Amino acid sequence: MNTNIQALAEKIKAAKHITILSGAGISTESGIPDFRSATGFWSQGKSREELMSVDFLQAKPKEFWPIYKEIFQLKLQRNYHPNSGHIFLKQLEESGKRVSIITQNIDGLHQAAGSKEVYEVHGTLMTAHCPKCKQKYPLDYVMEQDIPRCSRQTGSEDTVCGFILHPDVVLFGAAIQHWEESITAALQADLMLIMGSSLYVGPINQLPLFVKRENQTPLYLVNRESTPYDDEFDGCIYGELREIIAQLNALM
Ligand code: NAD
Repeated sequence: MNTNIQALAEKIKAAKHITILSGAGISTESGIPDFRSATGFWSQGKSREELMSVDFLQAKPKEFWPIYKEIFQLKLQRNYHPNSGHIFLKQLEESGKRVSIITQNIDGLHQAAGSKEVYEVHGTLMTAHCPKCKQKYPLDYVMEQDIPRCSRQTGSEDTVCGFILHPDVVLFGAAIQHWEESITAALQADLMLIMGSSLYVGPINQLPLFVKRENQTPLYLVNRESTPYDDEFDGCIYGELREIIAQLNALM
């Protein structure tokens, strides 16, 4: 047994409040590819980052929507279900601990597992909104039309708002969400666990080192591969999350 796993299990058992920073790696077991392992998505000579940017959406909304649906495989979203990693976190919460999940994921699987305190700092795929009247629309509505438009009636019966919707995912060039709440929760916790993230995406990748500097909060990483910050962590457990979670469950 890896001594880091035993140490982490002891830390989890002793903690009253745990902050989780989760990334795409927690959802690969559910069938959703992460970005590191995927081949790049290029279209019209543009990178995924350029295509999924606020600038591209504003300049070419009709071209944006089909590419957005393709990159994030929107038609498959209803097929994905929480896996043992999401369920482990929900069970920790049920055991009486406060578990604050700061997630970079946009797939809604932490909430689907039943976790209550989830901060989706990069937004969500599950809804979109009208940039003009702010009306919210669920994923099913977004999938009904190639280029989804606002259908809210404006005054007389046969006129609708009609604006092309904006996704609720945080696009490149937009500010991340729930930043203040995430910092507050992370500073209140007595343990932080990073799960399934390459920690390449800022500014959220700075949060672990910030809480360590401010509060000496113990930091643990569970991930398939190393990250640029591993030297700063109290313990790093490398491997498949499914196997690591099974070992943690056996030790709890
Ligand atoms: P990332 O793709 O950069 O890194 C994922 C990390 O998880 C990698 O280090 C990889 O080795 C590891 N990993 C993958 N599968 C694993 C497994 N089964 N067990 C253990 N480790 C595993 O993801 P990121 O750090 O979250 O940043 C990328 C950005 O992409 C985020 O902003 C996120 O919003 C977005 N994204 C989200 C989803 C999703 O919602 N499920 C999927 C792809 C990308």
